[in-house]
Amino acid sequence: MTDPRPKRLFGKVVVVTGAAAGQGAAEAEALAREGARVIATDVTEAPGCRRLDVSSEEDWAQLAAELRESYGQVHGLVNNAGVTWRARLGDVSAEDMARVHAVNVTGPLLGIQHLAPLMRPGASIVNVGSSAALTAHYPVAYTTSKWALRGLSKTAAMELGPRGIRVNIVHPGFIETDMTASAAPAFREANVLGTPLGRTGSVREVAPLVVFLLSDDASFITGAEIPVDGGLTAHGGAKPISDAVRRQPVPDAGAVHR
Ligand code: NAD
Repeated sequence: MTDPRPKRLFGKVVVVTGAAAGQGAAEAEALAREGARVIATDVTEAPGCRRLDVSSEEDWAQLAAELRESYGQVHGLVNNAGVTWRARLGDVSAEDMARVHAVNVTGPLLGIQHLAPLMRPGASIVNVGSSAALTAHYPVAYTTSKWALRGLSKTAAMELGPRGIRVNIVHPGFIETDMTASAAPAFREANVLGTPLGRTGSVREVAPLVVFLLSDDASFITGAEIPVDGGLTAHGGAKPISDAVRRQPVPDAGAVHR
């Protein structure tokens, strides 16, 4: 049976980076379901994906030229591709920092620089940040790159606003993908403990937000940062305290106030 609801992104040309797997693949699928003409891209060869290394200026220039030729314009960009590197402060090298930042920060910058000229009023850009961008997450190359991406999102929202182009950033918490599967089991357990909803998230819980931000339903939302993290970053470190006290015997309330 066909879905009778109107498609929110009907006919819109939307580029998704890192779309071969994980969140990017789910976002590409969700956008296509809403009627978008999705250009799914990834650095790895994958069925249905066009090859694009987000850190390559040449790759972006080529994609922009092709899109100009084929469609004349681009309505949306999802800067989803990202890499992690779990070295700590004392161990991370300058090369690691540069490599992670090239993908996670310069990648989205190049995407915006090359595709924004093809965008008209109403276009929308979504950057995929991380709960790391809101906290002191220990993998320092990754964390600093995602904080930088917040800055890029804010600046881009300001610079592109007068042209009617919106730029927002979403901050996933622990989402079950290849990226998190490569982490130590203790990392997963600690995330679940720190998350008020008491579980990890799935790619199907991030994609709807990306669809919304690309759609005209979000027409007055720009420069916003939206966590999709089960509450991980909302408690600001208060959850372990709350949990510890909850396990204590309840004192006589009257005695406390006397
Ligand atoms: P993933 O590793 O499953 O997928 C990442 C995709 O990006 C892969 O297909 C990979 O080939 C691609 N990629 C890597 N380098 C690239 C490059 N230079 N150019 C183009 N594509 C490249 O990871 P995911 O969990 O789906 O991550 C998607 C985004 O979400 C990333 O930006 C990541 O930092 C962010 N994120 C993930 C989580 C999580 O818990 N999984 C949490 C917060 C933020």
